[in-house]
Amino acid sequence: MRKNIVAGNWKMNLNFTEAEELAAILAEQLEGKSLKCEVVICPPALYLEMATDFAEESVVKVGAQNVSNQESGAYTGEIAAGMLASVDVEYCLVGHSERRKYFNEDNAFLAQKVDKLLDHDLTPVYCCGEQLEEREKGNHFTVVEQQISEGLFHLNDGEFSNVVIAYEPVWAIGTGVTASSEQAQEMHAFIRGLVAKKYGEELAEETTLLYGGSCNSKNAKELFSQSDVDGGLIGGASLKAEEFVAIINSF
Ligand code: PGA
Repeated sequence: MRKNIVAGNWKMNLNFTEAEELAAILAEQLEGKSLKCEVVICPPALYLEMATDFAEESVVKVGAQNVSNQESGAYTGEIAAGMLASVDVEYCLVGHSERRKYFNEDNAFLAQKVDKLLDHDLTPVYCCGEQLEEREKGNHFTVVEQQISEGLFHLNDGEFSNVVIAYEPVWAIGTGVTASSEQAQEMHAFIRGLVAKKYGEELAEETTLLYGGSCNSKNAKELFSQSDVDGGLIGGASLKAEEFVAIINSF
């Protein structure tokens, strides 16, 4: 179902005490507020259970940053979708550009992760986005189309309806250079069009598309006001409670 979402990707930041403090402040600040979006925090795996404990008593939902492509077994260091589900995690990022770049995760591998998440009723937040050189060469639509079709288009309608897509141009991640609202809207409309071609207009209209990349409290309102932008995946700005809450309140 299409909905507005603001998700915070904490990446590999904060020690346990700091993470607990941030989760507590968020839960407190958002308590009793009627929000126009769903709020998700994606802390490091070690803190997920702490976060889901806070989430139980608040509006905040919890997502993981990564998941194994395997069900269970001898995969040292990995965390399975079933394990995430067993501590009440509801979302999981898949294919963040940092996973693609530093851990060589390709679309076929990411498709397996998506399948595992769906098998355990978790919502994959499938990330896509072009590098700067690809945009400069005018290849950004082709790159994003390939990421989405290879990572997601093996799903049937029912499965696909449980997926969220995050468009994150790599050149905008952690750089302070955000995509303009026109660039974001253009790509989001393109992605919705791809989904419509594959699954039909109705499902495309129901798909949640987030923007990510240097989104902050100053630019969120304009980005989120675009007709095909349903919210944001926030990195750096999600580590400061006040800033994250301001982004949430941009809806
Ligand atoms: P940023 O990161 O907001 O720090 O640019 C976004 C992301 O990587 O999801």
